[in-house]
Amino acid sequence: MTPFEKLQDIAHNLRWDWNPEVRDLFQELDPTLWEQVRHNPVALLRRLDRTKVERVADVTERAERLWQELHDYLAADDTWYAGTRSPGEEPAPLDRPLVAYFCAEYGLTECLRIYSGGLGVLAGDHLKSASDLGIPLVAVGLLYREGYFQQTVDPSGRQRETFPAADFQDLPVRTVTGSGGQLLRIPVPFPGRTVMLRVWQADVGRVPLYLLDADLPENDDEDRLLTARLYGGAQETRISQEALLGIGGYRALRAMGITPRAFHMNEGHSAFLGLELVRKRMEEEGLSFEEALAVVRRQMVFTTHTPVPAGHDRFPRHLMETFFESAAGGLGLDLDRFMRLGRVDASESGEPFTMTVLAIRLADQVNGVSKLHGHVTREMWQDLWPERPLEDVPIGHITNGVHLPSWVHRHVAATLDTDLDRIGLDHRQPEPDLERLWAVREERRRRLISYIREHIGARLDQHALTIAFARRFATYKRATLLLGDLDRLQRLLCDEERPVQVIFAGKAHPQDEGGKALIRRIVEVSHDERFHDRIVFVPGHGIDIARELVQGADVWLNNPRRPMEASGTSGMKAAANGVLNVSVLDGWWDEAYRAATAKDAPIGWAIGEGAEADSIQAADHQDEIRLFRILEEQVVPTFYDRDASGFPQAWAERMAASIREIAPVFTTHRMVREYVERYQRAATGASHVT
Ligand SMILES: *Cc1c(COP(=O)(O)O)cnc(C)c1O
Repeated sequence: MTPFEKLQDIAHNLRWDWNPEVRDLFQELDPTLWEQVRHNPVALLRRLDRTKVERVADVTERAERLWQELHDYLAADDTWYAGTRSPGEEPAPLDRPLVAYFCAEYGLTECLRIYSGGLGVLAGDHLKSASDLGIPLVAVGLLYREGYFQQTVDPSGRQRETFPAADFQDLPVRTVTGSGGQLLRIPVPFPGRTVMLRVWQADVGRVPLYLLDADLPENDDEDRLLTARLYGGAQETRISQEALLGIGGYRALRAMGITPRAFHMNEGHSAFLGLELVRKRMEEEGLSFEEALAVVRRQMVFTTHTPVPAGHDRFPRHLMETFFESAAGGLGLDLDRFMRLGRVDASESGEPFTMTVLAIRLADQVNGVSKLHGHVTREMWQDLWPERPLEDVPIGHITNGVHLPSWVHRHVAATLDTDLDRIGLDHRQPEPDLERLWAVREERRRRLISYIREHIGARLDQHALTIAFARRFATYKRATLLLGDLDRLQRLLCDEERPVQVIFAGKAHPQDEGGKALIRRIVEVSHDERFHDRIVFVPGHGIDIARELVQGADVWLNNPRRPMEASGTSGMKAAANGVLNVSVLDGWWDEAYRAATAKDAPIGWAIGEGAEADSIQAADHQDEIRLFRILEEQVVPTFYDRDASGFPQAWAERMAASIREIAPVFTTHRMVREYVERYQRAATGASHVT
């Protein structure tokens, strides 16, 4: 292979996303083009002249070494998972993985725009950790040609959505062929027709991610658009996508000869998968629906992420009737029986069909994504087990984490006494060097400020305490909580001695007018001359901007309406970089903050005491006042409390405590190990239900 071919090979495995050395090399090949192609090495190499590439300093030697490194990584047999095998036990054959993971979105890297927010990034981080740990996992999703959407914001603060179509040749994916070398085509039954799918493969280190796409000439024009947009369109598009994911996904695995031992539905979008498994069992083993369901249930793990009833996919009866034949044909059910699978109250004939209920009925092992969310989920679905007291509702929790090598800046990592890759695999806490860590924080803040200057022109202050708020603009996250009292905010931000600045970023769903109004409000306030260069909104939030922010801010602000944040993960990314969280006690923070030991410096700040207020208005008002008090009385004074050399001792101790306590627990390395226990139970058919 020539060096150029080695680079192409490297570009086609997403392992480059969490190897900064490889990213550096791609960037150096052509820094301007690297920005233009949005950090996409496949697109970069397609546009570069081979001879020009080979003229870059040391490129041959570096391509050779990084290529070897990738292949050593892929072939390693000393992974964490390999260490769990008993002596003499063979590794799982590739076509018999431990688990197949299904999710509607994956946030792996900026250029593969098939994610919208936290759920997708969590799924992406799950795959990356599964790869690092050598877990035999395959993943299934959809390849959306237009992704979620690209966000721009006009001067009045109005969000504009554009939907540029991706050229799949430019992406780190390739088509999957059948044994005869022909392109795979997967037929999926649809009302009155068959929709054909093509299968793409993205390699996430060792983990194959199979992505389905309906944009084929065999399909009629409307069907070709089914995989155009993530969470776009009306309910009928939504249910169609879910049929493609669950039913099509399982059929694709079968067509490739892959027979996973267990299945993981990450969120309810893929719940039709379970029906397809039941149908197959009935067909191939002659079982009744009930018998097949009992077998399938044992194989299934279901993770729910939504603590509010409105967040769950619900389909009305007429829509389910349309999809009845294609989703439930061959199961021997009538429409009423089918509807009951997705209803809490079997006798309530007006109740819509909820995918989460279906998924719960299809899986023995169900979990929420933080300790608090586990509790909220048991309460929410308690009626599915009317005979059981609340504490016996069989729903547990596995708290989310983040993939540290993807999120922690290498300079932060270099201040630790542990490899990022080892964190979360043993009980050791990483210990940072305080002075070096502070120096890196200052460097990262400078970098963030210059990034913002380059991208939106605002001139923030390199030395000011920098607060970031970046996530989806769902209204419950209350992006504008800090903007309730502008006079007080001005006093907080514009103190000459102790300046503070706030950076906002995030997308509102195209149909969420409430979320869009929050963006408008922030942009409006940022134009108020009192807040000039003190408050900015950065459009186009995604993985790249998230990285800059979680690495470059001083304070990570999270103020959802409790208990609506199932977990939240951006604060984990920030904490592992030494950024301090100021957060409502909700989701993961409720768990992290309370678990922190008293002997050390505190790991951040809690807004409120973790109680629910009587009304939304009361909660918002109380939290706003609490947030101001924490910032005024604690955060700002601690940050600006410096010794003679300008070093903030108390702040640095908090950063160290935050890294120590949070990084080893809230990492996907710890999280996927917990899932492996569930996968193994599911793979051996051991019933979890007590
Ligand atoms: C981590 C991440 C999120 C998650 O945000 P939370 O509100 O903390 O759950 C959302 N979007 C992007 C791009 C992320 O990287």
